[in-house]
Amino acid sequence: MRVLIQRERRQGETRVAATPETVKQLKKAGADVVVEKGAGEGSFISDDDFVQAGASVTDKPDWSDVDVLLGVTFGDESLKDSPLRTLREGATVMGFFAAYKNRELVEFALRRKWTCLSMELVPRITRAQKMDALSSQASIAGYKAVLLAAAELPKYFPLLMTAAGTVKPARVVVIGAGVAGLQAIATAKRLGAIVEASDVRPAVKEQVESLGGRFIEPPELPKDAETAGGYAKEMGDDFKRRQQETLAEHLVAADVIISTALIPGKPAPRLISADVVKQMKAGSIIVDLAVENGGNCELSELNKNVRKHGVLIVGHPNLPATLPADASMLYARNVSALVLLGVKESQWAPDLEDEVMDGSLLCHAGNIHHEATAQALAIQTNRPPPPSHQPQKEAVA
Ligand code: NAD
Repeated sequence: MRVLIQRERRQGETRVAATPETVKQLKKAGADVVVEKGAGEGSFISDDDFVQAGASVTDKPDWSDVDVLLGVTFGDESLKDSPLRTLREGATVMGFFAAYKNRELVEFALRRKWTCLSMELVPRITRAQKMDALSSQASIAGYKAVLLAAAELPKYFPLLMTAAGTVKPARVVVIGAGVAGLQAIATAKRLGAIVEASDVRPAVKEQVESLGGRFIEPPELPKDAETAGGYAKEMGDDFKRRQQETLAEHLVAADVIISTALIPGKPAPRLISADVVKQMKAGSIIVDLAVENGGNCELSELNKNVRKHGVLIVGHPNLPATLPADASMLYARNVSALVLLGVKESQWAPDLEDEVMDGSLLCHAGNIHHEATAQALAIQTNRPPPPSHQPQKEAVA
């Protein structure tokens, strides 16, 4: 079983899909591990560290005899001038695919009959927690978003009693209390801010309060706001309007807004209008973690920090890459756990009907397996009938 760890090609990507720790795990399972030269550089892991762990490191690996390729992100741009084009037919590829916006890559993967296991699609079930890369990376994004805001905010986060008088604590509003949002709440609380949070899933209220945050009740919490898989559903126009009205008074009073609201497979909900930004205090900060999916704020710009009406709006698309040591350490463990699930007697022999493999499968043997992606790209599925259990259909790779 030959496993290749690629050097990431996406601009600004510092993470790597393996660490010396996971190389040792893969070797122990019987894999021959090859690492592309310089793959760990952005995460401060040297080629020598990988060699010490038992990998071979080479500048020009032979992609044509790889069984399993491990990467962080794959997108249309991965195909440009990339040895990925030479990866053998039928190989397995694991990483984040953002497949719904990477048609060229998906079509190429189908032609080459690759088995693509998408880290975005790993089911959110207890058995697969070790492989939950969405959570490990979202948590980093939530943490770092607060630190960025604290570093840029022209005032303190905590309440301070000083000889010169009292300093009021900063007010932080977190929109979307999923994995990133909950970590943002916890981080902002640790820094001493007053934290409020909004979400459309009723289950979240208790979680927000257990972290010391105040839950901003939506006008009327919809009973069907949540899918069976625990994700938010897209709301109707009337709900959206009423939610914006309720949120607005909290948003305009905030010093910092961390917005993380996402709906799988859909554009991010627009929750911070230009008018709200106009009414916020000069010097306030919005960190829009949904910026890659269109943004929660009307004025966010992808890849840019912009100041609008005196408010700094941070549109950084890949915050986990700004904490590469821990992001890679956790991501590599997630990926390694998924590889080990598919190893039998030192061979790569995944049981694709296993609930975790089946849920994570984007495409296999020339067929799209994930129906939401097939619909988003209008690609026909010819896959055989699904196994008896229900695969996850909500998330989009
Ligand atoms: P996500 O990234 O898809 O969305 C972020 C948050 O935005 C969610 O909490 C969502 O409800 C919220 N949101 C969507 N529309 C909104 C709106 N209009 N206004 C306010 N908030 C809005 O979510 P996630 O962090 O990936 O978590 C999704 C679910 O998966 C959660 O239920 C989480 O608890 C669950 N989860 C389960 C496990 C597990 O069991 N192993 C692990 C991680 C997450």
